[in-house]
Amino acid sequence: MARFVKKFGGTSVGSIERIQHVAQLIDKTYRDGHQLVVVLSAMSGETDRLTKMASEVSSDPDDRELDVLLSSGERVTIALMAMMLKSLGVNARSFTGRQVGIVTDGAHTKARVSRVDTKRVLAALNDGVVPIVAGFQGINEASDVTTLGRGGSDLTAVVLAAALKADTCFIYTDVDGVYTADPNMVPSARRLEKISYEEMLELASLGAKVLQTRSVELAAKHQVPVEVRSSFQDGPGTRVVKEDTDMEHVLVSGITGDRHQAKVTVVGVPDQPGIAAKIFVAIAEAAVNVDMIIQNVSQDSLTDISFTVPRGDLKSAIRLVEVLAKEVGARTVEVNEAIAKVSLVGVGMRSHSGVAARMFATLSRDGINIMMISTSEIKISCVVEEKYMELAVRGLHQEFELEKPLAG
Ligand code: ASP
Ligand code: MG
Repeated sequence: MARFVKKFGGTSVGSIERIQHVAQLIDKTYRDGHQLVVVLSAMSGETDRLTKMASEVSSDPDDRELDVLLSSGERVTIALMAMMLKSLGVNARSFTGRQVGIVTDGAHTKARVSRVDTKRVLAALNDGVVPIVAGFQGINEASDVTTLGRGGSDLTAVVLAAALKADTCFIYTDVDGVYTADPNMVPSARRLEKISYEEMLELASLGAKVLQTRSVELAAKHQVPVEVRSSFQDGPGTRVVKEDTDMEHVLVSGITGDRHQAKVTVVGVPDQPGIAAKIFVAIAEAAVNVDMIIQNVSQDSLTDISFTVPRGDLKSAIRLVEVLAKEVGARTVEVNEAIAKVSLVGVGMRSHSGVAARMFATLSRDGINIMMISTSEIKISCVVEEKYMELAVRGLHQEFELEKPLAG
């Protein structure tokens, strides 16, 4: 008998028909005699709808009340699912975050899990009950409801899988796994059979939306085997696992293109100690997430500093930087929103050289100018003009031979 955690995302429980379909999947695992904990998201679009209502009530809704509101979406799906399962003869029972013992810190709307008291879930499992758990929520030390950040149901699933020492944490979604690139951009993209935690973490932070970044961090920390699968079609998905030696032979596992970036350049900054610190300390204090930073070689003791920020943070970044630019005596501030970040990810880069050179050569062959470059041990990113993003991703996908093997 195996013990599984199975999480179903918003589209998988997006209508009564979809809930019915998932109930049948659960019913089957239950009848196969496995122990099963189910984690559910709210119906697709529901968390957005609730967020929008809150913004109509107040321009700056109170965080505590926002969590009370947002956590309601998942209560709807767990109750409906438990009812449906009971009518199929499955001994199911719904559990809210509180009932399942998830205790978090006090940071409303982006709480971190501090501990899990598995007593009630374990008792339920021992009684042959299938717990149907509301994802995305817990309670803080004051017993107030908290939520775990967008996509937080993934985190609930991984947290429970770690605490219950589950054999596998399945994440059911509307795609059948993690692909070498977004199939909407690259029709020949291939589903990966497996990927390392570290690569998945890079891909998730680069905007691959299949898994919440924090859930991957936690899975890596506790070595929870995760598998992404489709609830719409049968068959294997992508396993997220510990790095193994055959992964090293693959230079590049995945390619991403991210257009949610903007570039800010402070032109004509005096090249003196403390100026960069001044600019970036202020930006960090405003909780704006800076990604890449470039400082040019200085001429006449003036230099340019460029950096990228998420487009959503651009307005507040500009406001800050314009004030700072005046303070430090910089010439002007330039903004470019029409950029995109193209990245290659692969643990093979650790043991193979020349990946960056091949990336740059491919982009230059296609006449694409590189504006910024950043690298980590297993990632290379280039900022290019937004209109060339898809061309870049497709060219690189071909260059690194990531296409589907031809049939036959
Ligand atoms: N319902 C929450 C969201 O949409 C949590 C989740 O689905 O994972 O972000
Ligand atoms: Mg999700």
